[in-house]
Amino acid sequence: MAKPALQAQSILSNLGPLVTDLESVYKDIHSHPELSMQEKRTAGVAADRLRSVGYEVTTGIGKTGVVGLLRNGDGPVIMLRSDMDALPVREATGLPYASNVTANENGKSVPVMHACGHDMHVTWLIGAATLMAKSPDAWRGTLMPVFQPAEETGTGAQAMIDDGLLKRFPKPTAILGQHVMVGSSGVVSTRSGVITSAGDSLQIRMFGRGAHGSMPQSSIDPVVMAAATVLRLQTIVSRELAPTDAAVVTVGSLQAGTKENVIPDEAIIKLNVRTFDENVRKRVLGAIERIVNAEAEASRAPKKPEITPLDRYGFVKNDPAATRRTLDAFRSFFPSDRVKDTQPTTASEDFGSFGTEWQSPSVFWFVGGTDPEIYAEAQKSGTTADLPTNHNPRFAPVIHPTLETGVQALVVASQAWLAA
Ligand SMILES: [Zn+2]
Ligand SMILES: [Zn+2]
Repeated sequence: MAKPALQAQSILSNLGPLVTDLESVYKDIHSHPELSMQEKRTAGVAADRLRSVGYEVTTGIGKTGVVGLLRNGDGPVIMLRSDMDALPVREATGLPYASNVTANENGKSVPVMHACGHDMHVTWLIGAATLMAKSPDAWRGTLMPVFQPAEETGTGAQAMIDDGLLKRFPKPTAILGQHVMVGSSGVVSTRSGVITSAGDSLQIRMFGRGAHGSMPQSSIDPVVMAAATVLRLQTIVSRELAPTDAAVVTVGSLQAGTKENVIPDEAIIKLNVRTFDENVRKRVLGAIERIVNAEAEASRAPKKPEITPLDRYGFVKNDPAATRRTLDAFRSFFPSDRVKDTQPTTASEDFGSFGTEWQSPSVFWFVGGTDPEIYAEAQKSGTTADLPTNHNPRFAPVIHPTLETGVQALVVASQAWLAA
């Protein structure tokens, strides 16, 4: 076994006794989820934990972000990133530690759930940061755990950057991050190059002319206009892109009208686009604009539709050399069947912003969170797509060995740079 892996193993020999404590941290955060930019309690837990094992801690970066620094001699600076926010989803896992929290979102009360596993991410990072602090002889350099707000709205990484992250903290030699996903628990997977898609969300407001439902001749019906638009948007991926160019165009919200006998004035479409290539992204966004305007014109709309960007995520692109280094470390630590290659996924992440802004190489990987037997069964029957994914009200990673694997992966990857 290579020296970094041996040292990672010695650091991780303290994981066993810590697991019960980390499990209670996980359940506590799971049952107290907080929406994007409201992660006060979660940030407090992370900051307290880091302080208690000797990190210099700065809080309130980009509103609720937390940065820890543990300087342990000369050497590389490794940044480890976790997001902290939950989603406006009503939990349906039936777990004993399920959330029944509600919170205020834009003046409305909404249910809140850790449906994307960011509670697991926080726990992993607390675990890895604690173990590294307990074994200072096994590494040299600076470890910088970063707990980020508001990944789900695509604004948290940028908020930390806008709040002076790059000026206030040392430039990382490498930036590492991980996400729990559907996949066999205990398996880590990554790839060189683009690993998560770009995501663009748009709101489209289409204008018509309202009238009595019995007098269509006096109306310009935005319901029909919007319906035709939604159908035509489906042809972008099926008819305008090459079969080898992947993209997703999903209309997730279509709203118009209040009553069956009133033709409304306007319709609102909200849609989400995922792409893996900048040229494809531009083509898809251009086609959406063209179709929306043309459908409005075909319907005699009294005014041009309003297209407003809602949020935007860049690609997460893994640096090839840093990915090789991380994968070599994983392979020398985990059994070979627990380190896999993965295809790029249509999930999107703002993790990429840190590497882009700092011009530091970054590596992002996935950790499976599905019960290995259930996953193997689903693979056999070709039904893995039916397993509850991230953002599903029934998304519930199995705690073991998902928890242990994420902590191990962070320590092992850090040691690929920091091993003494
Ligand atoms: Zn998510
Ligand atoms: Zn997520």
